Amino acid sequence: MFLTISTTGTPERPATDLGFLLHKHPENAQAFSTSYGTAHVLYPEASAERCTAALLLEVDPVALVRRGKGKGKTGAPDAALAQYVNDRPYAASSLLAVALSTVFSSALRGVCKARPERAEEPLPLRVEVPALPARGGPDLVRSLFEPLGWTVHVEPVALDAQFPEWGDSRYVQLVLEGELRLAEALRHLYVLLPVLDDAKHYWVSADEVDKLLRAGEGWLAGHPEQKLITSRYLSRRWSLTRQAMERLELVRLAEADDTAVEEIDNAVDEQADTEERPVPLAVRRREAILAALRASGAARVLDLGCGQGQLVQELLKDVRFTEIVGVDVSVRALTIASRRLKLDRMGERQASRVRLFQGSLAYTDKRLKGYDAAVLSEVVEHLDLPRLPALEYAVFGSARPRTVLVTTPNVEYNVRWETLPAGHVRHGDHRFEWTRAEFREWAERVAARHGYQVRYEPVGPDDPEVGPPTQMAVFTLAAPDTTTTTTTTITTTEKEAKAA
Ligand code: SAH
Repeated sequence: MFLTISTTGTPERPATDLGFLLHKHPENAQAFSTSYGTAHVLYPEASAERCTAALLLEVDPVALVRRGKGKGKTGAPDAALAQYVNDRPYAASSLLAVALSTVFSSALRGVCKARPERAEEPLPLRVEVPALPARGGPDLVRSLFEPLGWTVHVEPVALDAQFPEWGDSRYVQLVLEGELRLAEALRHLYVLLPVLDDAKHYWVSADEVDKLLRAGEGWLAGHPEQKLITSRYLSRRWSLTRQAMERLELVRLAEADDTAVEEIDNAVDEQADTEERPVPLAVRRREAILAALRASGAARVLDLGCGQGQLVQELLKDVRFTEIVGVDVSVRALTIASRRLKLDRMGERQASRVRLFQGSLAYTDKRLKGYDAAVLSEVVEHLDLPRLPALEYAVFGSARPRTVLVTTPNVEYNVRWETLPAGHVRHGDHRFEWTRAEFREWAERVAARHGYQVRYEPVGPDDPEVGPPTQMAVFTLAAPDTTTTTTTTITTTEKEAKAA
């Protein structure tokens, strides 16, 4: 079992720094014993221009069989011989991955005391694996490594070089080239070699989920083959796979949220007056919402589409808000929100003020009735336009709080962001973004239909030409006591909502 990692360098940045990064001196050949045999690390070449480290694992097939006993891996009648005569000694597989993580554990974590700056920077790397069992063939190999920034050269290995008509074996010869941080490269191999082999030599238990997520940090969430990787890595144990997928989804959501929202917010900050301390747009939005809620005199507040609970957290800090309810359709967002708020560790008194529950704003919901105010912060643009009347009815027609605050992006402002390509919305999940006129037209119509009055407030710097980055509408119930007119309104809109 063999794998080499090479890099190139210059006299100022010698390739032999690879030795520091791997914590293995290029001049020594070293041997490490692992549970399945001996792992050797040696450097076939080591100069300032080019340095190659080789990991060679000598598998002890007998040890393999002994260790495998009682773990439920063997037992088929013909398995007796296969236990001894198999590809384990030469094919790069989960055994090599384990050796990799044992021998290069610090490098895998990206730790390098001697050359910390080198560990942080991408290096020109070339990885060669001469015999890689690849279930799924060269195409799968490419689709696993290419999205990670590797240039992939993959050649099928003939079953028998003397008899080409026998076709290809399940092995490929793999060469990867790319500019990556060494730790990243090692983590890719640590996860993807066993994924390609698709036959783990050990029983996969729950702690493998942690290992996978640790090694997959920064690249697995969002990988197009994430599901295949996860399920194969976890030997198709579905409960573990589901667990891992859910945790990856949390990571992805958190990343998407942070990058999308923060990128935009930072862009606004960069352009805001440099004299003042930059305040992210999301913070300004929450400040504007809090101010409007305080002005309305609301005590019992709904945060509809509360996402990860940032506003709920702010509301909790002000005792005038006696009951705060966060509602979202996404269980994952709610899980993150509950962690953020530390709901399970909260004192009884605080806990009695706050509640999170799952619900969809596309349906009327009795639980939303009887509140002073409702906030829809950056939510309406996440609904398909044809679904919007259903939300309008659920909030303004059925829940009917005295005050409703709606914030949404002002699409006109998008031209002020250099980072946003023309014609693009600010977040991949936005179904639309409105101009100021479009937002007002919508708000006027909703207000008229449901008996509210509406006014508008800018959030963020109010540009003389294109307006503010966020627009907010403050709706107030015109006649808080329901009258017969309201009842008729409800009946008509209910039909419309159902039709929608
Ligand atoms: N209010 C938060 C989050 C905005 S992101 C903030 O201002 O930061 C939009 C949120 O709306 C997401 O959490 C999404 O899950 C939620 N959402 C989208 N459609 C929904 C629906 N039909 N019902 C309830 N929540 C919905």
